[in-house]
Amino acid sequence: MPPVPKRGLAFDFSGRSIIVTGGNRGIGRAITEACAGAGARVAIIYRGSKDAVDVAKQIAKENGVEVKAYQCDVSDAALVQNTFKKINEEMGPVTGLVANAGVSVVKPALEMTKEDFDKVYTVNVLGVFNAAQAAARLWVDSKYQGGSMVIVSSMSSQIINRVAQGKPLTQVFYNSSKAAVSNLVKGLASEWAQYNIRVNAVCPGYVDTDQTSGMEKSVRDHQAGGVPLGRFAHPHEMAPQTLLLLSDHASYMTGQEYFVDGGQLVY
Ligand code: NDP
Repeated sequence: MPPVPKRGLAFDFSGRSIIVTGGNRGIGRAITEACAGAGARVAIIYRGSKDAVDVAKQIAKENGVEVKAYQCDVSDAALVQNTFKKINEEMGPVTGLVANAGVSVVKPALEMTKEDFDKVYTVNVLGVFNAAQAAARLWVDSKYQGGSMVIVSSMSSQIINRVAQGKPLTQVFYNSSKAAVSNLVKGLASEWAQYNIRVNAVCPGYVDTDQTSGMEKSVRDHQAGGVPLGRFAHPHEMAPQTLLLLSDHASYMTGQEYFVDGGQLVY
């Protein structure tokens, strides 16, 4: 595993205020740490983790910036609107959004239910849309030009992974929800370009987080072997592309998906 810089990315986000959904754990936490390390104020949105407030305090202390945690279920549109307005008043003006919160249900398609569909799609698609719309409304209402949002999608928006003995990884709602998000990114980027709001997706490959920690070792080893770089990613390896897209260096980048997958999509 190569050394991974936690902070010190070459971005200056001082004076910026960024919302990261699911920013208390995994990939979202790594992005929160990188944004705070670049000098941004960060508002973490979490669903229910008991330690989210303490995580925010710790990141704030380590980086000398304001980081606060707000409990909010992203699938509740009204709650998301109100929470984003509150963040804008308390920590704003908000300049960037990372819509990262996501969930999966892993089981064979023959056993999937409507409850499984609702669980995945209300967070991965509706939740992403709710967050994007709430951020865009803040920017359009305040006539802020230059908002950037990054949606954390997945390489599974494009490919169906196969595990040992050639069997597919059984998460059809997750994969299809990420494909939906990819199209959402293009549609929102197209509609909101008139407000100079940029919308892009970062698509991780396998990343070591709670989402992948339940994998059987044989499956995990098989999957890592299928990655050209030969390993799962560290969550911090998702931060550089995300910060680039949030930054003014990406002022002509919108409506695109950027794969950070160790080369996996070449297969
Ligand atoms: P984790 O399972 O580690 O964390 C999920 C985060 O999302 C938590 O912070 C959780 O909050 C939050 N969350 C879940 N549901 C809601 C909700 N309804 N409202 C608000 N917050 C919610 O996820 P990862 O870090 O692994 O994944 C982050 C993103 O990256 C997801 O979109 C995932 O699909 C994507 N991804 C992950 C990959 C991987 O290999 N790990 C690969 C490709 C994409 P709380 O802690 O309060 O529950």
